[in-house]
Amino acid sequence: MAEFTSPMHTIPYFPEDLTLPQFLLDYHHPIRLHRDPSSPWIVDAVTGTPRLQAEVIERTWNLANGLSSKFSITQDNIVGIISENDIDFPIAIWATHRLGASIFTVNPTYTASEMLPHIIDMKPSLLFVHPSALEAVQKAVSHLETSCDHMVLLTSPGMTTTLGLPTLQDLIDLGHSLKGTYSFAEFKLKPGEGRTKVAIYFPSSGTTGVPKMVAIPHASFISNIIQTATHDAGVDMSIPVADRRFKPGNISCAVLPLFHIFGLLINLHYMLFSGMTVVIMPRFNFVEYLATIKKYKITNLSLVPPMLTLFCKHPAAKEADLSSLRVVFIGGAPLSVHLAEEMGKLVPQAVVEQGYGMTELTGILTMPPLNRRVAKEAVGHLLPGFTARVVKPDGSLAGVGESGELHVTGPSLASHYVNNEKISRETFVDGWVRSGDEVYFDADGELHIVDRIKDFIKVGGFQVAPAELEARLVTNENITDCCVVPVPHDFSGQVPRAYAVLSKDALERIERDPEERERIRAVLIEDIANNKAKYKALVGGVEFIDVIPKGPSGKLLRRALRANATV
Ligand code: AMP
Repeated sequence: MAEFTSPMHTIPYFPEDLTLPQFLLDYHHPIRLHRDPSSPWIVDAVTGTPRLQAEVIERTWNLANGLSSKFSITQDNIVGIISENDIDFPIAIWATHRLGASIFTVNPTYTASEMLPHIIDMKPSLLFVHPSALEAVQKAVSHLETSCDHMVLLTSPGMTTTLGLPTLQDLIDLGHSLKGTYSFAEFKLKPGEGRTKVAIYFPSSGTTGVPKMVAIPHASFISNIIQTATHDAGVDMSIPVADRRFKPGNISCAVLPLFHIFGLLINLHYMLFSGMTVVIMPRFNFVEYLATIKKYKITNLSLVPPMLTLFCKHPAAKEADLSSLRVVFIGGAPLSVHLAEEMGKLVPQAVVEQGYGMTELTGILTMPPLNRRVAKEAVGHLLPGFTARVVKPDGSLAGVGESGELHVTGPSLASHYVNNEKISRETFVDGWVRSGDEVYFDADGELHIVDRIKDFIKVGGFQVAPAELEARLVTNENITDCCVVPVPHDFSGQVPRAYAVLSKDALERIERDPEERERIRAVLIEDIANNKAKYKALVGGVEFIDVIPKGPSGKLLRRALRANATV
């Protein structure tokens, strides 16, 4: 068999040409279940502020009105969100979409130099910025040739600020005060435009190189939500509502970062589409997370594997009230089956399941069979609508049980990388995405992840691009060449380690004073710690070697070093 598909043999109905807010806030897809409009749709975990669906919709219109009248945002603009999770994060997205502009997200813990390339690529007309990220954003923006003057603070409910910038609430109030006089006509997609008009750009390193912005059209984002929902509802929606895992009455905790596809699409949009209440936590803190689960009687969790480790090993988990949990969904990085089983014992009333996905596929690709209670090593079946091929190193297609690189086609693919034509052409090929993961399908049609062929390192759920760290490290005068590879790590799954070649000068100094070697190592580690986001730290250390292995064309033979890189 050369191609693999979903065992459901059903292709869901994908509405074309709706924007994300039109799909989520205005439209009723047949698979969508009715929810009680008087129960909160989104809740702020810290303050308990609840928002009904009607309020969310109204805030979105008012914000769009405020954005249009104060900043004249239109379909020609791009708007950035650089913020931790916030109850108004999605409202900023949907209001921007009502005006036809596209959104991009950046990790708010990035340093100014990490943010800058994305801001340069995106040329935003306006940035929504959380106060905690403001200093870095202002520093980054000060390096732009044409500055981005428009910034709006994305503050938590009730938080006042003296930073001299308008807040998102100010704009909502402005939009509200203008009521009746809408300063814009809602943006509507032309026929076919849903597949090209970009809803959101997310950073991803892809198979190689530094992080770049992946363009995700409205129809791709919407399709992945419907594909995931179809899997849960069953062929012809035959699964009784009571047996579905994502349904009205359930309560999800959104703590995964909303600047990443897993957090934004699955943890937020999919849960909202399923009629669930979503409790938004600003950032991850395990003890507060446990308290939130208890306080809000959370039923559904979305986790990356390190969070599961905490459930299994952190003393606070033993005391926690986890009795409300029904579904624990894990993804984003390889999962230890042992930990999944431990979690299963901790919450025997819940399903502990894992799926697989990636930014370039706009979310989830596989989900486990519905009768599985505890995750196995296999990551599940393709969602309906996807077709996969497994391509062997010689270019031929693998059959059942044979491994090779996963290639995927379907309705939810991203379209391209911004300003990276060559890598776009290599990744998005004739309507297929090359995943950069080595996989095989078993006889039951379930996908198994064998290895990651692509360059990036997954620290927890976060991508770390070796090329980005290498580019920084080689600016140090003590080294002439380097290569960064993953090494296994108990908590984070993987962490980066640098292999570096010392300069002649450094070697001479080390010969005179052997302690110089340790000093150089410490300087390199500290340089990354000071200039990159915390999770990119060289926790795997720095090793000095004589030469970095390279192929005849000068290409780094990263895998050769990786194979020898043990803890
Ligand atoms: P991202 O685009 O940041 O979501 O990263 C996607 C990558 O994460 C995939 O290409 C895989 O390498 C990895 N990944 C995601 N889910 C899983 C999983 N369940 N098991 C193993 N690796 C995974």
